[in-house]
Amino acid sequence: MKITIHRGTDQIGGCVTEYEYKGWRLFVDYGEQLPGTPETSLHVEGLTHGDLSRSALLITHYHGDHVGRIVELPEELPIFIGNIAKAILEGLSEHLGHIDDKQKALNTRLKSVNTFLPGQLFKWGEFKIMPIIMDHSAFDAYAFRIEAGRLKVFHTGDFRTHGFRSGKLSEVIKKYVGKVDYMVCEATNVRRTANNIKSEHELQKEFIQAFTENKYNVVYLSSTNIDRLFGLYHAALKAKRPFYVDSYQKKIMNIVAGRDTIWGKSRLYRYKEGREPKVLHSDGDNFRVNEKFVDFLSDRGYVIIARAGEKFDDLLSHIPAEGRITYLSMWDGYLDKSKAAYSPALAKSVGSNYEYFHTSGHCDMESLENLVEMLRPKAIIPFHTDSPKTFAELFSDRYQVLTMKDGDTFRLSSARASIRKRS
Ligand SMILES: [Zn+2]
Ligand SMILES: [Zn+2]
Repeated sequence: MKITIHRGTDQIGGCVTEYEYKGWRLFVDYGEQLPGTPETSLHVEGLTHGDLSRSALLITHYHGDHVGRIVELPEELPIFIGNIAKAILEGLSEHLGHIDDKQKALNTRLKSVNTFLPGQLFKWGEFKIMPIIMDHSAFDAYAFRIEAGRLKVFHTGDFRTHGFRSGKLSEVIKKYVGKVDYMVCEATNVRRTANNIKSEHELQKEFIQAFTENKYNVVYLSSTNIDRLFGLYHAALKAKRPFYVDSYQKKIMNIVAGRDTIWGKSRLYRYKEGREPKVLHSDGDNFRVNEKFVDFLSDRGYVIIARAGEKFDDLLSHIPAEGRITYLSMWDGYLDKSKAAYSPALAKSVGSNYEYFHTSGHCDMESLENLVEMLRPKAIIPFHTDSPKTFAELFSDRYQVLTMKDGDTFRLSSARASIRKRS
């Protein structure tokens, strides 16, 4: 088996990996590069052009840096994504499709995308693929155990070990993966130390306390950060505050709450009977606000899940606000003018007076090492990182670390391997 990382050896977004065996090609992810990164265009035989009859593309999860550019790929290329991830992505692209042509095209492309389920092995030509569910800030996110010939590779996707569902990771690895020959590993947080990564549980506790102490609460978070969203829903219930979302957000929550899957059975994704999230009703371009609603809010308080834009700005200007706390529950780089990801719309809606309640969707390096210990790979290939060098410095005294360059092809084998530059 050979591996080529077409993009992502020294950047976080837009990773594209290829596994090749006996003429069969398995690609993983095809998304956007992060804002501010010099754009690299890909021209890959068997993916963007050429003979596609023995090619397929696997998508680890629905974040834009992993799936955002699939519309540019030839229509005959088979694409595979997690079952619920597809439903969420359909909901998202349908919602945004009214204002964004790229999302509209994505919504159309999704109709022909195939799905897989966690723990259910499937084959593509010479490859055997086992989807392993991982905890991440995207729901239904996967790592893959990829086998061909006598080799076994673990491709991590994006993941963390401090989420609500992370406790099951070692059990899942033992049952579905075991030891592997190679680990192709995301290393987003390579330059962060473990002690500044808060667990999703700790964060939820802080929210419960804050919602209890403060009557009026507005939280800005990514509408597809499902675990956070359900965590906030339960936090509001515990604090006895009415929990409000708009109809789009409710639809996304229902996709997860309504599915009878292994994760769906978790209490986190269940609505308490008679206490479903309340839906903010629209009246033309704005939300409907009447006297009864205002009276109810001033009596009970609220937790409102808001998004950037005039619709929520208008709502918030018409409801009780004395002592209101605004929480930013997503990466604060969006509010940092010096960053390429800066969002003027979000900055306008959130304002300057907010509390930062957030934790990373990626694991720290200590936890990553625990996973390495379980998998016992011959070598680790870091990617989805802006500092492969730091990764090598951290791990190479204990493990063999292969730092590749974009476009390099490496022959995975039990013998000592060499990196061959692609012409
Ligand atoms: Zn991600
Ligand atoms: Zn990512």
